[in-house]
Amino acid sequence: MIEIKNLEKTYTRAGERVVACRVDALEVAAGEQIAIVGPSGCGKTTLLHIVSGLLIPDRGSVRVDGQDLFALSERARDRFRAARFGYVHQTFDLLSGFTALENVELAQYFAAGRTDRSRAREFLTHVGLEERMHHRPRELSIGQQQRVAIARALINSPKLLLADEPTGSQDPDSAKRSLALLRSLATEVGATMLLVTHDPASADAMERKVDLRALSGAAQ
Ligand code: ADP
Ligand code: MG
Repeated sequence: MIEIKNLEKTYTRAGERVVACRVDALEVAAGEQIAIVGPSGCGKTTLLHIVSGLLIPDRGSVRVDGQDLFALSERARDRFRAARFGYVHQTFDLLSGFTALENVELAQYFAAGRTDRSRAREFLTHVGLEERMHHRPRELSIGQQQRVAIARALINSPKLLLADEPTGSQDPDSAKRSLALLRSLATEVGATMLLVTHDPASADAMERKVDLRALSGAAQ
């Protein structure tokens, strides 16, 4: 489902070149649930931004579902992403002016140009938010916001679910429950899952675990 080769992204900071992310080779099979681990600053978020096509690397190729992401025009890449990817951000990134239900419906609208309220309700019920659909993010607990973000990421049955420290701001027990929910929903909709985390416990809960620093020959 994912095939990465010779990937590198650098930034220049105060005249110095900083390697933000380097991956010589990585393959993730369809349906696989993989964790990429590593300490803060090792390039995890940069990697997810590249795999989602939001950030263009200096060199290297990324194929998702057989498509070379950076051979597409920016518009085509945006469409590719909307139709096939789900993304859970560390900070959830819910739209604060919209209710839980509307946040999920907006994701439907961006992917398909229309909403399906009954499916959105069904999904929110599935993640235990049947009583909270009309609440805005600030009226929800962190755990509840997390579950809205999970519903939103999976509502369009993405082929690829990308998750950036999705349980980062939760206590260990609720982190464990959220991750289990994310994994079971990903399995249900048939999504391949790529999670990045600095937390060894979250990584251990996944099918496969790879240290980002071990993916490149050069030290970072
Ligand atoms: P992680 O998610 O593993 O904590 P990041 O991918 O956010 O790491 O960052 C990797 C490295 O790239 C860090 O050293 C960070 O400071 C640097 N970096 C990330 N984004 C930028 C940017 N826009 N400009 C300059 N440096 C950046
Ligand atoms: Mg990060």
